[in-house]
Amino acid sequence: MSAQAEWLGDTRPLMGTEVSVYLWSDDPEAGRRALDEVFDEASRIDRLMSTYKDESEISKINREAADRPTLAGEELFGLVRRALDISVLTRGAFDITYDSVGQYYDFRERQRPDPGTIAAARETIDYRLVELDRAASTIFFAKPGVRINLGGIAKGYVVERGVDILRRHGIEHAAVTAGGDTRLLGDRRGRPFVVGIRDPRQDGEVAISVPLEDEAISTSGDYERFFDEDGVRYHHIISPATGEPAAGVHSATVFGPDAVLTDALSTSVFVMGVDRGLTLISTLPDYESIVIDASGKVYYSDGLRQPETPSTESEKSP
Ligand code: ADP
Ligand code: MG
Repeated sequence: MSAQAEWLGDTRPLMGTEVSVYLWSDDPEAGRRALDEVFDEASRIDRLMSTYKDESEISKINREAADRPTLAGEELFGLVRRALDISVLTRGAFDITYDSVGQYYDFRERQRPDPGTIAAARETIDYRLVELDRAASTIFFAKPGVRINLGGIAKGYVVERGVDILRRHGIEHAAVTAGGDTRLLGDRRGRPFVVGIRDPRQDGEVAISVPLEDEAISTSGDYERFFDEDGVRYHHIISPATGEPAAGVHSATVFGPDAVLTDALSTSVFVMGVDRGLTLISTLPDYESIVIDASGKVYYSDGLRQPETPSTESEKSP
């Protein structure tokens, strides 16, 4: 008896969030194997890049790189290099050294650094303090106290790698998600996938649905890891300029061809705010963005707006 072609899917807790894989396979057994391989890959990358694991490569670099140039494997070195390029592109809104302050937040324990700690640690938030030696494959921190964290880019990397694995298995229709980052392979067999952007203040509700094929989409929100105190929301997206959670935006979504970039850019647009964020996106031909601000108002990048829509102006300035 021959097995039927079907959709297969699974979700597992990984990387401090949930990773899920959904795919169409002509051979369910082979499909299952491909699926397992994607989860294995996500754990492998997490073991390499998680700052919560003392034995990870990134933890070693955080311990040693201020004392001496520290050897980094090709993969970690490459992702750090991409992160630094994105810092240049976003004029420092995306900055993996945010963790110099970020390390003092514990959202589960409702802990945050006091103003003195923030002021001192801010001196070590600057991506230019991370010096890469490409020939030697080493990373050096130009000041003691610098720490790097790839939380704003590693999930995009995982879903991109996941889709590569599925492609290699001959799969043509799939969705791989890690937290707020999704990479789609092909379509849903004749129609697009539909990805929901969450309502930032209504748990479980979808604010906007985006039909997409063969693309990546990432959302950064202030509702993922946070605690509220005296009417202020303390959340996990840090403005490198202040060392404090970025205010003004509730969620920023970016979609385009590469999940590594959509992941980093959704974090960046969140930090930059509506105007600067959407201006940046308008310079990137294949990328679009949807931002929900702190009053719940929705903004779209140029490529999503129809020039003849008369409401465009009045939407911008109420
Ligand atoms: P998630 O999918 O977890 O919501 P995001 O893409 O929104 O992830 O990124 C948030 C994560 O990015 C934070 O948990 C932190 O690890 C990291 N991060 C926070 N602020 C910055 C920043 N300014 N630049 C780069 N990374 C950041
Ligand atoms: Mg992101």
